[in-house]
Amino acid sequence: MANAATDSDATVVTMVIETHSPHETKSWGRRLASILEGGELLGLIGDLGAGKTVFIKGLASGLSLREEDILSPTFTMIQEHHGRFPLYHIDLYRLEEATLDDLGLREYLFSEGIAAVEWFERLRGSAEMEFLSVRISYAGANLRRIEFSALDSRHAQIISKLKRSFA
Ligand code: ADP
Ligand code: MG
Repeated sequence: MANAATDSDATVVTMVIETHSPHETKSWGRRLASILEGGELLGLIGDLGAGKTVFIKGLASGLSLREEDILSPTFTMIQEHHGRFPLYHIDLYRLEEATLDDLGLREYLFSEGIAAVEWFERLRGSAEMEFLSVRISYAGANLRRIEFSALDSRHAQIISKLKRSFA
């Protein structure tokens, strides 16, 4: 776990955890959901089968949505759900590269709701956006490493709260 403050404008907050089952990954999604305030952009990064959709199922249940309603989108790249906040579940897998002008993404990503974007790295210019990165890596059959990080203060504060409450 690292928490490196550089200067007042650019603070990197990072938190790394390991999960040993899909259930555990979902609980971290629920925990994150319990802290969100609306208006957050969650960028999920990780290979196919890493657990991005599993994590979003947990997030959904933490927003009072049914996790069964969270699907791995095949043709629908954007799925909208209405729980404690609107949840926009976006999966860019089918696009090699997306821009904010594709699919009306801008309106979902910068809304009062919560946008959770799988394959966030495929979005052009994503690195310059304010977002909370959830990077999931395969570490064994049922083992996953999840790294939460954020550069902007609003999303960094969410991670700090997650640490204080659950680490
Ligand atoms: P992605 O959306 O990243 O492509 P999915 O969430 O659809 O991946 O699938 C993750 C797969 O890995 C599921 O089959 C799930 O059961 C399995 N799995 C095994 N261990 C874990 C874990 N610790 N966390 C999340 N998923 C896990
Ligand atoms: Mg997925």
